[in-house]
Amino acid sequence: MEVRSTTRPGAPQGGVSTAAPSAAPAAGPPDRAPAEPVHWSRARVLGFGRAVGGDAEVCRPTTAEQVVEALSCGGVDGRGIALRGAGRSYGDASTNTGGRVLDVTALDRILDFDPETGIAHVQPGVRIRDLWRHAIPHGYWPAVVPGTMHVSMGGAAAMNIHGKNAYAVGTFGDHVLEFTLATPSGELLVCDRQRNADVFHAAIGGFGMLGCFTELKLKLKRVHSGRLRVWGIPMRNLEDGIAILEDQREHADYLVGWCDLHARGRGLGRGVMHRADQFEPGEDPDGERFLSAARQDVPSTLFGVVPKGWIWPGMWCAFHFGCVPFVNALKYHAGFKEGLASPYPQSHGAFHFLLDYVPRWHWMLRPGGLIQFQPFVPKDAAARVLRQVTEKAHSWGMAPYLGVLKRHRPDPFLMTHGLDGYSMAMDFGVPVGARRRRRLWELTHAMAEVVLDAGGRFYFAKDATLPTDALQRIHGADTLARFRALKRRLDPSHLLQTDLSRRLAL
Ligand SMILES: Cc1cc2nc3c(=O)[nH]c(=O)nc-3n(C[C@H](O)[C@H](O)[C@H](O)COP(=O)(O)OP(=O)(O)OC[C@H]3O[C@@H](n4cnc5c(N)ncnc54)[C@H](O)[C@@H]3O)c2cc1C
Repeated sequence: MEVRSTTRPGAPQGGVSTAAPSAAPAAGPPDRAPAEPVHWSRARVLGFGRAVGGDAEVCRPTTAEQVVEALSCGGVDGRGIALRGAGRSYGDASTNTGGRVLDVTALDRILDFDPETGIAHVQPGVRIRDLWRHAIPHGYWPAVVPGTMHVSMGGAAAMNIHGKNAYAVGTFGDHVLEFTLATPSGELLVCDRQRNADVFHAAIGGFGMLGCFTELKLKLKRVHSGRLRVWGIPMRNLEDGIAILEDQREHADYLVGWCDLHARGRGLGRGVMHRADQFEPGEDPDGERFLSAARQDVPSTLFGVVPKGWIWPGMWCAFHFGCVPFVNALKYHAGFKEGLASPYPQSHGAFHFLLDYVPRWHWMLRPGGLIQFQPFVPKDAAARVLRQVTEKAHSWGMAPYLGVLKRHRPDPFLMTHGLDGYSMAMDFGVPVGARRRRRLWELTHAMAEVVLDAGGRFYFAKDATLPTDALQRIHGADTLARFRALKRRLDPSHLLQTDLSRRLAL
């Protein structure tokens, strides 16, 4: 096992202060000075959906040395320490109710970027947005981006996120070349596909259970234009959406289907598939002008007039006054018009980060919040299983207000959600009131049974409700035993915990 440093700076044991967290550091080379003492202060830490989580003691280190020192402080009340990036996981993957939370977002420096190779060397708190803003003027874009630009590199690696091109380029981890991991056992491990290869393949996708990424190297992809060529393709139902994905995936760079999960019968899952392709060199006459950070960012007003911050209250009204089925139907019919107008050019930012167009959109689900349920189903069972779980939601009177269909492929990471098949991300508004909330949880358990019986998987960044036995049913006893053995080696006192890891009895 290669170890860069095995010594840990002396640390005050268990000291908790209510001092305010330090400010984010300025850009520049990493700080290698001896670690300043770390401070823990009480705060409310929720999942992105605001439906789960609770109070915790939070520390925001600014250097890798402080990360090591914070880990040496130990947890409180046997609840350990949760690692947290930008807090964009929908559920409880980075919350630790009653325990401690190590927020690494202040480690936010891009340490190096090579415009010849597109290799970036980053700290874990760097966000996808920081990365593409830095890289796009050089003609590079991150190989894998999620539906929001606000996730951190550490969170992306720990969850091994996927994009709208998962079927073609795999997951985030497939593009990571190397990382350094600070473990609770006090090591700083340098890991890649040769050195500490077992840790490399388990910490990526290991949901923050083996150690804290303190640096990562990843390869970005070349782009010759700041825009993509986009098609809208109407989908008549779920089965049609799957057929389109199969038909187009050999040639398309990105594919994602928006589905109306309120529609029933033959129309269930109708919607619009979006395909986007990169331009070849010289193909887009205006492409170079869009190789600029300013041209990729989402605008701050709607139609150049309405401040985006005013939009979520309108969405709140639509949601709470039962307009979702109507809005979905309108969107489906608009898809036919879009199909006729296709293809059209769109910036990478506008194509990928539609959800970032509306700041605080998830507040429309207040006061209950939202949960996401994203089953991954092997290809041959997908149409049957995804239809069955949606119909189950209908029969329980709780249709998801949004569905997003994607194609995936397997990857080499131990705890992966990637498989040769499809996923459907389903968003549910969480009802207010303990009884109705419990009923939603029961519904997701009933849906999970169908998925797990078919050999399906789940993605923990999008989970808040899976029952304890799901972990073993998803990954199998052997894989789970290998992961637990690594955890015992790197985290012998079981320091790294989250509400998720306790719920799944890791
Ligand atoms: C609007 C929206 C759209 C999304 N779309 C997609 C999508 O298309 N595809 C997709 O895959 N995901 C998607 N996600 C989910 C998101 O990409 C993941 O939840 C991602 O992990 C969030 O990163 P984060 O920095 O917010 O991490 P957090 O949510 O804070 O943490 C996620 C996990 O990473 C661990 N972690 C954080 N930092 C470190 C570190 N330095 N070292 C070790 N472990 C660490 C945490 O313990 C936790 O287990 C979406 C989320 C939102 C809100």
